[in-house]
Amino acid sequence: MALEKLGKALNSALKKLARSKTVDEATIKEVVRDIQRALIQADVNVRLVLQLTKTIEKRALEEEPPAGASKKEHIIQIVYEELTKFLGKEAKPLEIKEKPTVLLTVGIQGSGKTTSVAKLARHLQKRGYKVGVVCSDTWRPGAYYQLKQLLEPYGIEVSGDPEEKDAVKLAYEGVEYFRGKDVDVIIVDSAGRHKEESGLIEEMKQISQAIKPHEVILVIDGTIGQQAYNQALAFKEATPIGSIIVTKLDGSAKGGGALSAVAATGAPIKFIGVGERIDDLEAFDPKRFVSRLLG
Ligand code: GDP
Repeated sequence: MALEKLGKALNSALKKLARSKTVDEATIKEVVRDIQRALIQADVNVRLVLQLTKTIEKRALEEEPPAGASKKEHIIQIVYEELTKFLGKEAKPLEIKEKPTVLLTVGIQGSGKTTSVAKLARHLQKRGYKVGVVCSDTWRPGAYYQLKQLLEPYGIEVSGDPEEKDAVKLAYEGVEYFRGKDVDVIIVDSAGRHKEESGLIEEMKQISQAIKPHEVILVIDGTIGQQAYNQALAFKEATPIGSIIVTKLDGSAKGGGALSAVAATGAPIKFIGVGERIDDLEAFDPKRFVSRLLG
């Protein structure tokens, strides 16, 4: 993962702390500066970095370590806690409550939406659910074949018609088709042609009205870095039932920026894409993510 570089830089900041003989104000300030540098290099928004590191510094200077812990251990714990909080604090897993649960995905073309739909279908199948996938991408007929190719080896059926031009009709009919098929989850892949958020959200609203999804999932390209903030915010304001998948965190030096920018809007990141293969999707858990980052 390209975030390895961030992990290494954070780790070396903490190692410096572990090696220092005394832990005084100067040591703490130096560690905080190293953390700042590491985050800014990973494209995290400077204002967010300053807020975060100010909190770390304040806590590290003021708090007494709990019984049994050394000052150093306590500071490491503070860094871990604050980074976790920074990325959304608690994991917000995707819940499948009703049968069938209808999920609608939206995203700008090229974001990795189609791939993510296939990954999500496979992920849910591995969790024991029977899944049907509806392709309503009228803009890119190839999306239908792409989904079929990815999912047929796993016996996951894809509904769609590359000739049909009406996306709302395709979505509606596909959902009705799978309602009659005893599936647990129906994932609808919508057209991703829009370049800007307003068009994207308008389309989401139209299809939403027709199929009444339990959850709308926005797919955001992690390589856009901090710009992910505006996309996530516009989406969060337009839908109360949103969740987010941030893709391409394996290849991008801007992954840290995208993840933290989305988290800053308060929109729940439920999955991250970490590669091109169908199994390269991870349920996002800030605690586990930070533990792994810090090694
Ligand atoms: P769509 O236009 O949003 O449906 O985009 P696609 O699903 O077709 O993906 C666009 C490109 O991004 C493809 O080449 C995918 O293989 C690639 N892609 C999608 N998700 C990931 C990911 O998590 N990591 C990497 N490295 N590539 C990804």
